[in-house]
Amino acid sequence: MAKRHSAARHKSKLVTVSNRLPVTLRRGPRGTERVRSTGGLVAAFEPLLEDRGGLWVGWPGTDLRDGETLSDPGDAYQIEPVQIPRADIKGYYHGFSNRALWPLFHTMPVRASFRTSEWEAYERVNGRFAETTAANLEPGDIVLVNDYQLMLTPARLRRLAPEATIGFFLHIPFPPYDVFRILPWARQLLRGMLACDLVGFHVSGYVRNFLDCVHRLLGDKVDVRRGIVQHGHRTVRAVALPLGIDYARYEDQARQAPSAGFPEDQRVILGVDRLDYTKGIPERLKAFGRLLELHPEHRQRTTLLQLAVPSRSEVAEYRSLKREIDELVGQINGRYASASWTPIRYLYRTVPPDRLAALYRGADVGLVTPLRDGMNLVAKEYVACQVGDPGVLVLSHMAGAAETMAEALLANPYDLDDTAMKLHTALTMLLPERHTRMEALRQREAEHDVHSWAHKLMQRLTAAAKQNRKAEGS
Ligand code: UDP
Repeated sequence: MAKRHSAARHKSKLVTVSNRLPVTLRRGPRGTERVRSTGGLVAAFEPLLEDRGGLWVGWPGTDLRDGETLSDPGDAYQIEPVQIPRADIKGYYHGFSNRALWPLFHTMPVRASFRTSEWEAYERVNGRFAETTAANLEPGDIVLVNDYQLMLTPARLRRLAPEATIGFFLHIPFPPYDVFRILPWARQLLRGMLACDLVGFHVSGYVRNFLDCVHRLLGDKVDVRRGIVQHGHRTVRAVALPLGIDYARYEDQARQAPSAGFPEDQRVILGVDRLDYTKGIPERLKAFGRLLELHPEHRQRTTLLQLAVPSRSEVAEYRSLKREIDELVGQINGRYASASWTPIRYLYRTVPPDRLAALYRGADVGLVTPLRDGMNLVAKEYVACQVGDPGVLVLSHMAGAAETMAEALLANPYDLDDTAMKLHTALTMLLPERHTRMEALRQREAEHDVHSWAHKLMQRLTAAAKQNRKAEGS
């Protein structure tokens, strides 16, 4: 805390707003525990928050009891919980965020369902996020709102704090016009975002989709080349800033990790995903089956190790996806396994970071084939962990990561033959080519890591806000 106040004297403080906080309270038989999370956002913003001071606004994931706090005296920044009434969590989070926006923005409209009551809960909760943020704001602060759960928060906040510097970053794809317009509240969402000074996306394709939607649905003047929207009196900048990873940490972990313990006589293809229908796990299993069918020389010698991290299991669709995967693994193993070899090893659980680094390091092929993905950090983590004999990354061209990771073998995840062929190419690639491709991938990720992403985002946001304040003053 002391650090926070001294830093805040000469720099404007950063206010990060996201659905979840970097800490949660876990209630168990031995009492309440404060658990820290270590996702990409924490890696991005924690160093900045520690440097300039500030606060993180988010939902603690559980009801706080009277007098209970999430802060710890040792914290370098403030943690500000948003209390969401139980009745609204379902509508806002499981409902509108995960059953309407998530599938639609991943261009899977048939999976989306739209309910007015859930939209209303989303509106109310976004309002609460804005109120909690505004209550903690001081002049000159920089607010950065994150992701699809909070697309209305910037507009609510703008009403409460007209002078504030507000940015928004979307961590999932922004869909094309024909898909986005399916949303009954499409215009409201755009207006929610356009209360910002700057709106950020992972790749330029998403920026183009956003600008197209703004122009066609709101009639605002848009300069596509410069990424500028004239929204009423406000000039909003839309930028592509691909998120990176904490490269040095992954590389270090890989160097220190114990051996993955893979059998000497096996080539290992590794898949690591949350169990989500956007990740294309069934398609990937089938493509591996196709590889074994088309190229019998890989039988007995190659294993697909698929790690699926449990996710959103309270949603029926995710439970049926799990059953589908269980069955496919059984079918393919039943068809190709021998007494001494199992083609697919499937783990349904989370693994600790040092174990994950060992798996990444040891795998001959990183197989990352989502049907659609905002960015995909697994692809980048795999690359950072290639500290020994370089492996090959097979990457879906439907992942945002494919826009920059040009040296990967790009595959169409919907086309099983194409994915099988890329797998064959990866498994037979000679060392010089593996080395050249992997070195180029590694250098890029090392340079454009999460810290450089966060700094660029802050720079662009402050510059955009400055121009808006100047225009307002003139
Ligand atoms: N991951 C994890 N626990 C595991 C396996 C993976 O926390 O057991 C992490 C992985 O390291 C990566 C993240 O989950 O940082 C997945 O991010 P990605 O962008 O690939 O997909 P998302 O799940 O955000 O859609």
